[in-house]
Amino acid sequence: MPLATDEYLNLDRKSIWHPFTRHSTALHESFPVIVKGEGPWLYDNDGNRYVDAISSWWCCNLGHGHPRIVEAIRGQAEKLQHSILANLSHPAAIKLATNLIGHFPDPGRRVLFASDGSSAVEAAMRVAVQYWHNLGQTEKNRFAALREGYHGDTLGAMSLGFMPNFHASYQDIVMPVYHADRPFCAGCAWGERPETCERQCLNSLRQILREHHSELAGLVVEPHCQGAAGMRIYSPECLWEMAELCRQFEVLLIVDEIAVGMGRTGRMFSFEHAGVDPDIVCLGKGLTGGCLPVSATVVKQGLFDTFTDEPVDHTLYHGHTFAGNPLGAAAALACLEVYAEDNIVEQARRRGELLNQEFQIFRELEEVENLRGLGMIAAFDLKAGKDGRSGVELAREVRLEVMKKEVLLRPLGNVLYLMLPLVVSEEVMQETVQALFNAVKSVIAAGD
Ligand code: PMP
Repeated sequence: MPLATDEYLNLDRKSIWHPFTRHSTALHESFPVIVKGEGPWLYDNDGNRYVDAISSWWCCNLGHGHPRIVEAIRGQAEKLQHSILANLSHPAAIKLATNLIGHFPDPGRRVLFASDGSSAVEAAMRVAVQYWHNLGQTEKNRFAALREGYHGDTLGAMSLGFMPNFHASYQDIVMPVYHADRPFCAGCAWGERPETCERQCLNSLRQILREHHSELAGLVVEPHCQGAAGMRIYSPECLWEMAELCRQFEVLLIVDEIAVGMGRTGRMFSFEHAGVDPDIVCLGKGLTGGCLPVSATVVKQGLFDTFTDEPVDHTLYHGHTFAGNPLGAAAALACLEVYAEDNIVEQARRRGELLNQEFQIFRELEEVENLRGLGMIAAFDLKAGKDGRSGVELAREVRLEVMKKEVLLRPLGNVLYLMLPLVVSEEVMQETVQALFNAVKSVIAAGD
């Protein structure tokens, strides 16, 4: 039987450890208790509805409760809920892997399934290290990554995205990773403009690859947009050059499409903007339309071919219990079918252009800087207010203010962004931008 919201919250405060949530917030803020999702909306236990402006941590690209996905899960649940992929197979995983591979520039690929994004990244790291080992290059077992990248919360993935502020207590147990400067075109640290840019931002990466390629298994990057770092968008030229450096120095290029894949940037995969063909691609989040945890590490056939077991055993001894789970695979397959039938990626590209235009109104506000967008991602940074409130404080206040206007946001530090479902209507999108604009204005005005 459903409970009253207060009753839920009382139980919640005694039982749940909320991820990425400060104690002070968990104890003093009253969270909405979400009971239903439909299209771009989430409904709470008191009947309030909110626009899910972050697509539930960037994964519900088709909105909530898409009937095709719900039906696929229901149909699969009636036949087979779980069966493993070790020495067995099942139709949903076979069809999903075949469909997925068809989206790559060169369909010579293999799909290694996992559950969440972090485990797809871990698998990519395992595959990369063992690939070089299979070839007898056992010293190639380290990684390079971009500073402030985010690749997940397991230890390997966290090593790639190590952030001293968040991860200090793990300093001694993370694996050493070469971290390179990160490109960020809207707020270029080198003061470059696109017309004059010579990609100085990649100097440190060039140097790392030149000096350490003999010990590097791979370079791991979020293609075109470092999401958790604050939607730090960078140009296709940068990614193209990273791919070129990897080719030149024989380092595998591993792209983490977990947040930006599945049409988010206006292409099926974000790496397509740069016309590159990465060695390993990690997918997660939106793969099932955000309905079930399924992730995939999609690996070039040439890498897979080195994992033979004769005369020496190079088998990949790696796999998660729910890898390729039939329910999740059926959901992902239905999701891909909807993408094809409804032309979701093209729709996202066009809607993204409109979002970008709408976002230009933020140029009016002095406190806003580094306005940027890529497909259905739009973001800006908040500077400190005239009254001394920091950009981070202002952003926190905006989150609470805009919630009153039925919009759910989660700022990243001083960065405010929208990542609406790709299928959101123009009307809801415009209303959301307007609600955010009004909230920012009123929070700033409160300090005047
Ligand atoms: N990589 C990227 C780029 C991500 O944004 C995330 C999650 N935000 C992950 C990996 C980790 O995915 P998960 O939370 O599903 O483990």
